[in-house]
Amino acid sequence: MAQVVYPKVAVIGCGLIGSSLIRAARAAGVVERIAVADASEAVRKRVAELALADTVTADPAEAVTDADLVVFAVPVLAMAEAAKAAAPGLKPGATVTDVGSVKASVAEALDGALPKSVFVVPGHPIAGTEQSGPDAGFAELFQNRWVILTPQRREDDPYLEAVQRLADFWTALGAHVERMDEAHHDLVLAVTSHLPHLIAYNIVGTAADLEEVTQAEVMKYSAGGFRDFTRIAASDPTMWRDIFLANRDAVLEILGRFTEDLQALSRAIRWGEGDKLFELFSRTRDIRRGVIAAGQETAAPDFGRDRSHT
Ligand code: NAP
Repeated sequence: MAQVVYPKVAVIGCGLIGSSLIRAARAAGVVERIAVADASEAVRKRVAELALADTVTADPAEAVTDADLVVFAVPVLAMAEAAKAAAPGLKPGATVTDVGSVKASVAEALDGALPKSVFVVPGHPIAGTEQSGPDAGFAELFQNRWVILTPQRREDDPYLEAVQRLADFWTALGAHVERMDEAHHDLVLAVTSHLPHLIAYNIVGTAADLEEVTQAEVMKYSAGGFRDFTRIAASDPTMWRDIFLANRDAVLEILGRFTEDLQALSRAIRWGEGDKLFELFSRTRDIRRGVIAAGQETAAPDFGRDRSHT
């Protein structure tokens, strides 16, 4: 029998990530009671039908009452408002975390909205799909995936214990936990996740706008690399709008580098510099092999679903 890590967990925002966390925590036997708050009436109804939680409410302060762990799983730009709404109900000594894809601005929002009597430990599971909502969640989502925690710069024992307890919770859900500075997190994710999504959104938009190529041709011949971009470009518009606005500086920094490299590639093609192209394509193939060797291959054969989004 697994050990209970948090007797009561409150999840604010019960979409893909919130509902996956609940399913995984229940499957691991590390919680006793679960409370959900969600702004959407349709989501609350569905959470009740799926029997995901012991209580479901529209009021975050009500959900967090008596909770030992509070998880904000709303879009990044909704974190501040959700935290403000939950604050009056928080139990002193509770741990408060989030699953947002951007960390510096969310950490600031949580810190500004929450009382000093709780332990704030921002986090980000590097796992997801392009689906949204409580039906899309599944218990295995975090298995063998990384969760990055970006703790505050505090060295007192009670805080460090709260961070360790949260790390133990994620480990029990099957994840690997890493601690990181929030600004570094945002830069790393700008490269590995945010820029790839921006490229996908852009390339699908470009194809859609091309007058010489029909929509039917785009669909028909999409196997030629385009299909993977359409999957990524189908990701939730609210979530991704928030990510780009909240991680503006890091995304613009990486986008600047990317644009320079693209110009260099464009020159190599124009001047017929095949050796340059060959050298880059060989280097990138090695990176791909490194991703597979690290066990982070996109199509997870064990669960048959793509869990690569962040
Ligand atoms: P989702 O499926 O859209 O679920 C979010 C839920 O939060 C929705 O039901 C939404 O209701 C609700 N909500 C919005 N504002 C709220 C508020 N102020 N108070 C209470 N509930 C509120 O989103 P998700 O994909 O689970 O993403 C949640 C968070 O996880 C985001 O911060 C995202 O950056 C992060 N994340 C996502 C992934 C991924 O691949 N999806 C991976 C890692 C991390 P409405 O529909 O009415 O707005």
